[in-house]
Amino acid sequence: MARSHDVLVIGAGIVGAACALALREEGMDVGLLDAATPGAGVTAAGMGHLVALDETEDELDLCLLSLGLWRDFFAANPGIGEPLHCGTLWVAEDEHQLAEAQRRAERLSARGCSADALDAHQLRKLEPALRRGLCGGVRVRGDSVVYPPAVANFLARRLVGLGGALYLGQRVVAIGAGGLTLANGQHMDAGRVVVAAGADVAALLPEVPVAPRKGHLAITDRYPGRLAHQVVSMNYGQFASGGDALSVAANVQPRSSGQWLVGSCRQDGQGDTTVDPKVLAMVLRAAIGLLPCLAHMNILRAWTGMRPASPDGRPLLGAHPGRPGVWLACGHEGLGVTTAFGSARLLADQLLGRASDIDAAPYAPSRFAALAGSMHGG
Ligand SMILES: Cc1cc2nc3c(=O)[nH]c(=O)nc-3n(C[C@H](O)[C@H](O)[C@H](O)COP(=O)(O)OP(=O)(O)OC[C@H]3O[C@@H](n4cnc5c(N)ncnc54)[C@H](O)[C@@H]3O)c2cc1C
Repeated sequence: MARSHDVLVIGAGIVGAACALALREEGMDVGLLDAATPGAGVTAAGMGHLVALDETEDELDLCLLSLGLWRDFFAANPGIGEPLHCGTLWVAEDEHQLAEAQRRAERLSARGCSADALDAHQLRKLEPALRRGLCGGVRVRGDSVVYPPAVANFLARRLVGLGGALYLGQRVVAIGAGGLTLANGQHMDAGRVVVAAGADVAALLPEVPVAPRKGHLAITDRYPGRLAHQVVSMNYGQFASGGDALSVAANVQPRSSGQWLVGSCRQDGQGDTTVDPKVLAMVLRAAIGLLPCLAHMNILRAWTGMRPASPDGRPLLGAHPGRPGVWLACGHEGLGVTTAFGSARLLADQLLGRASDIDAAPYAPSRFAALAGSMHGG
């Protein structure tokens, strides 16, 4: 247990597990630690939509890099994570959203994605469960859905299969020069420590500006064959952060079991992880607004998850500018499943001093003055 490693990765969520495996595949001696089990954090609470999001070019760059790596993963590991290659239907409820949907189709097509603008008739033909009166949308064929904790677990086990070490049930309480300290008082040595602790990162490194952003989800009973695509409202992602602002956007995902996973919302300033029935009702109403038959389906379970959100919505990937030997892979907000493999690639490239396929600068932790401006003693 006390042996030293080239790299210790804190957090076996989808991000940390992907980073640990990528570094092991580069030949490093890697240890992966988690306070619980692989994928037990927000990776188990989220939706698992693998989606080409294009709110900025940087975001799209990282999504496309990562989606390519996800395709390689599915080809090499058939069936892992119960993938469903269902594509996404972005749904426009008014003319303004329709214009934005058409721009999305153009932006994605220009980057090589198969994205078709749809009128109201085409939309309903593709997904008959959608209500009448919608304006149209975009179909993105390459998007998929996956069950993220199963993938995180698989990556962690693959790490072990390749000679890496997995330390479960081990909470890290401090990161110091040349390693870290566990809750049981034990010190572990490592040349580098990668912190991929999801929404809990600030408990270890208070200067890292990542805060929990709460979302509500619900899952239905099994209704096979009723929904063919991931259906998302065009107002998804339009979130004004700050205070306790709440935004709700319908996002309904078919699962291979025939269940529908229904989300979601975004809410800052919420330390409490319990389900708020009023917020849940808003989420369900928004989804029923697109898919009326949901009103007659049984909901089996509802829960919440805390997205690890940075102030600018982008993850922090790279060296901590104020703590030598500490690296960050955190702050993925609502896209950490999609971007896990791309994030791992960017992190590995930087650790090895290699150029990446995309510009890593937008993700540099040094963009935040709180990290860059102060040196921490280790
Ligand atoms: C409602 C909702 C819907 C979402 N939908 C999607 C989606 O459709 N597509 C998508 O791409 N993303 C989605 N996400 C976002 C996605 O779930 C996250 O971005 C991603 O799971 C983050 O993974 P992570 O590995 O950084 O964090 P986590 O999964 O939280 O992993 C962090 C790990 O670190 C461990 N840890 C923390 N502190 C310590 C410590 N001190 N010592 C040891 N271990 C520690 C925890 O136990 C945990 O296992 C959604 C999130 C929510 C909440």
